[in-house]
Amino acid sequence: MSGGRRIVVVGGGPAGVAAALAAKQQDSAAEVVLIGDERQEPYEKPPLSKAVLTGKALPEDAPIAGPKGVAAHGVRLALGSTAKAIDHDARTVVTEAGARIGYDALVLATGSINRVLPMFPPGRGGIHYLRTEADARALKARLHQSRSLLVIGGGLIGLEVAASAAALGVKTSVIEIAPRILARACNAEIAALIHERHATRGVDLCIDTAPRELRELADGRLAVETHRGAITADLIVVGAGVMPDDRLAREAGLPTQDGIMVDRHARTSDPAVFAAGDCARFPGPHGSMRLENWRHAQEHGAIAGRNAAGGDVAYAAVPSFWSEQHDMYVQGVGWPAAEPGGRVRRPLAGDAVLMFELDGPQVAYAWGINAQREIALARRLIERSIPVDAAELADPSKPLGSLLKAKA
Ligand code: NAP
Repeated sequence: MSGGRRIVVVGGGPAGVAAALAAKQQDSAAEVVLIGDERQEPYEKPPLSKAVLTGKALPEDAPIAGPKGVAAHGVRLALGSTAKAIDHDARTVVTEAGARIGYDALVLATGSINRVLPMFPPGRGGIHYLRTEADARALKARLHQSRSLLVIGGGLIGLEVAASAAALGVKTSVIEIAPRILARACNAEIAALIHERHATRGVDLCIDTAPRELRELADGRLAVETHRGAITADLIVVGAGVMPDDRLAREAGLPTQDGIMVDRHARTSDPAVFAAGDCARFPGPHGSMRLENWRHAQEHGAIAGRNAAGGDVAYAAVPSFWSEQHDMYVQGVGWPAAEPGGRVRRPLAGDAVLMFELDGPQVAYAWGINAQREIALARRLIERSIPVDAAELADPSKPLGSLLKAKA
C-alpha cells in the first residue's frame, strides 16, 4: 500500500455504503474500498417486501448511493466478492476468490442472515425467504401466479409480505408462534390495532400457533399442520427473524456475543477494526444492544466510516423504524424505557394513532400509525430529553409543538 490510507468496508447494505461514503468525506485522500458479495450496485432493501413484490418498482430503482451509484462518490467497489477471513496481523481481508486486500482501517458491515427453520428449507419448491433482491424477484414471480400464501412469522417482514400479497388478491394467512404479532417492534396496544387492520383486509392472522409438520399435497400445494388444524397454500414465505452475521469477526478472534462487540465509536477491541449496523452490538442506554433497522444501519455505519478515517465521533442517534402495511404507515422512535413510567394515547383525527411510553417525566418511545408529523415532533422531544406532562401529551387541544417550545 502506498499514498493515502486504505479503508476497507465489508458489506454492501445501508451500513456499509454509509460507512464508505462517510470515510471518503472524512478523508478525501483515503482510498476507500467497498467489498460486497452481491453483483448489483448496492440497493435499498425496504422496497423489496412492498413495492417490488406488488410490481410497482424494481430493486434497481432505489440505489442506496443515488442514481450515479457508490463509485461516483470516489469509492472503489469490489462487487461479487465475498470476504472469507481477516488476517489480523497482516491487516488484510482475504476473499473467497483468494484476493488479499490490505487495510489501514476496516469496517465490518456484514448485516444479518435469515433464521432458517429446518421444517422450511430454503430452495425447496414453494418455500421462500426474503432478504436480497434475488429473493424478492423469485418471490414476486411465484406470488403473481399464486392464489394462496402462508406466511410463517408475524414480524415486520411477514406482515409486510402479507399486506403486499393481500393487495395482489392472494388469500393470505400468517402464523405467529408468540401470543401476539410484532412482539419485537411494537407494544401490545399498537400490535392489536395492526392485527385488527390486517383482519379487515382479509389476512387471517393465527397467533400462538406453531408449525408442526409440512406436507406436500397431491395437487402440489403445501399443507402446514398446527395444533389448530392444517393450513394449505400454494406458497410459503418464512420471516422468522435474523441472526447477526458476525462470523468474520468471531473467526478473527474479535469479541462477539450475538453480534460484534463495539464501543460508542463503533470500534471493536482492535482499534483498526470497526463494525456497524445489524452485525454490531453497541452500548445502549440500558446495556449493550443490537438494532436491526435501516436508519440505525445508516447512522451507525456513517459513524464507523468517519472514525475509521480518523474521526472521533460517538454514536448518539435516537433509533427508529417504519413499516408500510395496507393503508398504515407504522413508525416507532426512541429507546425502550428501562422501567416504563406510563403509557399515554393522544387522540388524533381519522384513523391515525399516536402513543407514548414515558420514562419518568420524559418520553422514552413513541409509536404512530399514519402520524408522521406527530412522530417527527415526538422524535425531537426524545432527542432533547424534554420533560413532559402526561396530561398535556394526551390533550389534543394542546399542540405537540408547543411542548417543545415551552420546555426547550
Ligand atoms: P422479526 O421481527 O424477528 O419477526 C419474526 C417473527 O417470527 C417473530 O415474531 C418470531 O417469534 C416469529 N417466529 C419465529 N419462529 C417462528 C415459527 N417457527 N413459527 C411462527 N413464527 C415464528 O423478524 P422478521 O420479520 O423476519 O424480519 C427480519 C429482519 O428484517 C428484522 O430485523 C426486521 O427488523 C427487519 N425488517 C425491518 C423492516 C422495517 O423496518 N420496516 C421490514 C422488514 C424487515 P419469536 O420472536 O417468538 O421467535
